[in-house]
Amino acid sequence: RAPILQVKNLRKYFPIYSPLGRVKGHVKAVNNVEFTLNERETLGLVGESGCGKSTTGRTIMRLTEPTEGQAIYKESDLFKLKRKEIEQIRQEIQMVFQDPHSSLDPKQTIGHAIEEPMKIHKIGSKKERMERTLDLLHKVGLREDQYYRYPHEFSGGQRQRIGIARALAVNPKIVICDEPVSALDVSIQSQVINLLQELQDNLNLSYLFIAHDLSVVRHIADNIGVMYLGHMVERAATDELFSHPLHPYTQALLSAVPIPDPKLKKERIILKGDVPSPLNPPSGCIFHTRCPHVMDRCKVLSPALTKKGANHFVACHLYE
Ligand code: SF4
Ligand code: MG
Repeated sequence: RAPILQVKNLRKYFPIYSPLGRVKGHVKAVNNVEFTLNERETLGLVGESGCGKSTTGRTIMRLTEPTEGQAIYKESDLFKLKRKEIEQIRQEIQMVFQDPHSSLDPKQTIGHAIEEPMKIHKIGSKKERMERTLDLLHKVGLREDQYYRYPHEFSGGQRQRIGIARALAVNPKIVICDEPVSALDVSIQSQVINLLQELQDNLNLSYLFIAHDLSVVRHIADNIGVMYLGHMVERAATDELFSHPLHPYTQALLSAVPIPDPKLKKERIILKGDVPSPLNPPSGCIFHTRCPHVMDRCKVLSPALTKKGANHFVACHLYE
């Protein structure tokens, strides 16, 4: 499958100001992140909150400006686009958020909410937009007669369906799903994930699927990138990552995922301490303060993301 989006050397540093307004440091929210998203595939970005996965998604949308790097989409670098060109890109790359409630106007009917992006991007006549909205309601598993209802009349799962319909209204190629099911009950999560998968197949979509939980991306992602403190520490095809996790952080995350096959069951790895502050990240390997396999060189040398298999990359001195 052909690549649709290639992110290279992405960095996002947020300046920290002293009371006098001087820059006194930087939060390195995203540090040298690289990945390729292929057409009609899903790339899962996984890590604890604050690891930089949402910031990565937001820089691609240019909702926040990257400090450095490239994001190649259709032969152009999204990070070099001018304001006007960004608007066009925002039609082709859409975002679904964790909490659709905050992105839906409580005083707007959901029909109008779904139609709004089409209006902004001047797509279709009034009648065509209405027809498309009714079709979208149907596609996401809602009813046409719910067009004139308001957001508060829907459950969390239904509101996420509305958020998805709204993202799809302008016919995007890529959808960045930022924790789209994290606020939902587990039983509803799988329904929404199944819906996203069905829509991907029918509409040829590519997803960047951001989640803090590996079990959520397991069934939808073709490839997974694991992030820790702004770094991508491991990236692999989903099956490969689940069967042969290499990075000690991935191994710890995976040990917390319930596995149906008892033969594969490994003991839960409990990491010591908390995620360090991104304001003052550890030297060397950013994971060394919590790593069960830490060695002397880990404290001084930062491991590079290195190829370890056809589609498997890891940043850890254990594999050098
Ligand atoms: Fe652990 Fe060292 Fe590998 Fe970092 S480089 S994950 S500290 S073994
Ligand atoms: Mg987030």
